[in-house]
Amino acid sequence: MTSKSAAAAARATVYGYPRQGGGRELKKAIEGYWKGRVDADALRATAAELRRTNWRQLAEAGVHEVPTGDFSYYDHVLDTSVMVGAIPGRHRASVEADALDGYFAMARGTQDVAPLEMTKWFDTNYHYLVPELGPDTVFTADSAKQVAELREALDLGLAARPVLVGPVTYLLLAKPAPGVAADFDPLTLLDRLLPVYAEVLSELRAAGAEWVQLDEPALVQDRTPAELNAATRAYRDLGALTDRPKLLVASYFDRLGDALPVLAKAPVEGLALDFTEAAAANLDALAAVGGLPGKRLIAGVVNGRNIWVNDLTKSLATLGTLLGLADRVDVAASCSLLHVPLDATTERDIEPQILRWLAFARQKTAEIVTLAKGLAQGTGSITGELAANRAALASRANSPITRDPAVRTRVGAVTDADARRSQPYGERAAAQRAHLGLPLLPTTTIGSFPQTAELRVARADLRAGRIDTAGYEERIKAEIQEVISFQEKTGLDVLVHGEAERNDMVQYFAEQLTGYLATQHGWVQSYGTRYVRPPILAGDISRPEPMTVRWTTYAQSLTRRPVKGMLTGPVTMLAWSFVRDDQPLGDTARQVALALRDEVNDLETAGTSVIQVDEPALRETLPLRAADRPGYLAWATEAFRLTTAGVRPDTQIHTHMCYAEFGDIVQAIDDLDADVISLEAARSHMQVARELAAHGYPREAGPGVYDIHSPRVPSADEAAALLRKGLEAIPAERLWVNPDCGLKTRGWPETRASLDNLVAAAHAVRAEL
Ligand code: GLN
Ligand code: ZN
Repeated sequence: MTSKSAAAAARATVYGYPRQGGGRELKKAIEGYWKGRVDADALRATAAELRRTNWRQLAEAGVHEVPTGDFSYYDHVLDTSVMVGAIPGRHRASVEADALDGYFAMARGTQDVAPLEMTKWFDTNYHYLVPELGPDTVFTADSAKQVAELREALDLGLAARPVLVGPVTYLLLAKPAPGVAADFDPLTLLDRLLPVYAEVLSELRAAGAEWVQLDEPALVQDRTPAELNAATRAYRDLGALTDRPKLLVASYFDRLGDALPVLAKAPVEGLALDFTEAAAANLDALAAVGGLPGKRLIAGVVNGRNIWVNDLTKSLATLGTLLGLADRVDVAASCSLLHVPLDATTERDIEPQILRWLAFARQKTAEIVTLAKGLAQGTGSITGELAANRAALASRANSPITRDPAVRTRVGAVTDADARRSQPYGERAAAQRAHLGLPLLPTTTIGSFPQTAELRVARADLRAGRIDTAGYEERIKAEIQEVISFQEKTGLDVLVHGEAERNDMVQYFAEQLTGYLATQHGWVQSYGTRYVRPPILAGDISRPEPMTVRWTTYAQSLTRRPVKGMLTGPVTMLAWSFVRDDQPLGDTARQVALALRDEVNDLETAGTSVIQVDEPALRETLPLRAADRPGYLAWATEAFRLTTAGVRPDTQIHTHMCYAEFGDIVQAIDDLDADVISLEAARSHMQVARELAAHGYPREAGPGVYDIHSPRVPSADEAAALLRKGLEAIPAERLWVNPDCGLKTRGWPETRASLDNLVAAAHAVRAEL
């Protein structure tokens, strides 16, 4: 095919769409079903209606081929486990008794049966349920969901393409089932899994699928030769099937690297590649393998996981280059639109002049359609769209919101010394010991105390105008009084104010920083029926006034023990927001760091001697490819130091991280140069303490001795045993005693009992020293 006819054939498509509906109907229906208020038929009807609405919306917008099977009651990886019959033994009876209830049992657990483990989907904030596999796993095909949803779309008269998690990615995301040896490699099951995929593909073809998409995002991560070999075999075998639809193998979130030649050579009919900035290397790599002669290429030129308008002119140039490299070039978002909110036009509180910089799923769909049209019919067919797009981009580039001279001057003047404490750790530690006078094995908590129903009611009352700010603040103060007096009674050494005033650890600061926007309806699925509304980091960041000082000093006024100030760090502020894409992340992080630095310094001036800067996202934002990690860690750790380095030597800087795996970032943790770090450790039996020790970590650390993820109350003996384990790795002079994470999701009864036991454990172990 010539590039001219390839252009003429260009079509618009997407890989997936937000599931919940404009009014979050799906969430309401599912939660209603769980509570027994909605029956299964009503839930199914709601779901089917939402799918139809999405498809119609896509088709009306001009999408030529809609995705099917991307819908899910909870998670598409769990749906894949159902599709291949990988039901954990402990859930089999309930799945057989009732497929829907069994499905939710796998997702959420029941009184007696644990759910599947949940973890992050690559480097997004979406969480999937981890398949559990073992040498005895028997796969069986169950294509019912995929076939039914395909039929629904075909019945509407639409061209539709089922989207499945590919077999290689499915196995690479799996873990050994409970009771199976930890070194079991799920990839060894590939030969057993492929026939099941073959069956599903044949059934989809029989149901009318011309194309089927197999998503293989795991191939954008560093892969061993054995893993690449598995991909080769998988697509050689699936490609060799005679009774199958055309196959499109999709990758996203990063460049394919060594997997690109593997897929380019595979006997499949099409590839979908990410061509956004993060994966720009795909373009040269594709040219280097000689393109995809005879194949269909879907070009993910519209960023599917951020919310900014596309640069249509730039995308058209990329698409133009790609025309010479494949038989047919279609246009898509880089990944499923699941990761962005539904519709920017519903945002009433964002000024129109800013709103036009934003593209949520509906706006991205329109961009994809425009690009496909421009490619097929020439740019003359989209002159109006191009002009509007150029105007939107220019207004964004020249806006005082994205260019605040004061912020830029300040960032430009930052020196290395600004990101360095005035004394090395050893000297600081001595000054802090003298200043704080804490006992050995000091006890503390991670910051938040239970967010009670009363607190949520108070916030809702304030929003609805039922109480005024003064009334709201009285309620918060009363809560702080209670939290402080409880901690004093319990005998904790370093207290916190409890974070009662915070709706969310990122949103609370975003609302107070200039340069951030909040959305009213910008919901994105985090897991199951949990949706979050990430703030939008849109412009240059500054802090008009102190954000936390009032609450911290109020808490300090109630006690003579030190109250720890509590802030969210710059990396986490970026990671849990939609972040601007018009400058390097490191530059944005530096701006946030300077704003937070002012807060840190103000807390110190107001008399706060211990300040914690939380960075739970440091580990999770680690780039997918090892080669990209040093660059990320360099700016991330610098931003943390810039936030914290302005204090006196005797002011103690803490940081906190959750999630148990730290092995690969111990050096980065060291590079933060914090005085104390608290980490999650209770469930991994102090593994992180050993990892820190193995690295020679020289600072103080509090590996958690109370797992706050469960309502279970640890006994004092249990906490003491963990502490003694911690002491094997970290000397008493440097070991802290604290829970794994904040207590905001816990209730008061278990919080009281657990902290009593935690303090008792510290006393018992101190007596042994
Ligand atoms: N300070 C926060 C809290 O206690 C930390 C939360 C987190 O690590 N995710 O809630
Ligand atoms: Zn935490």
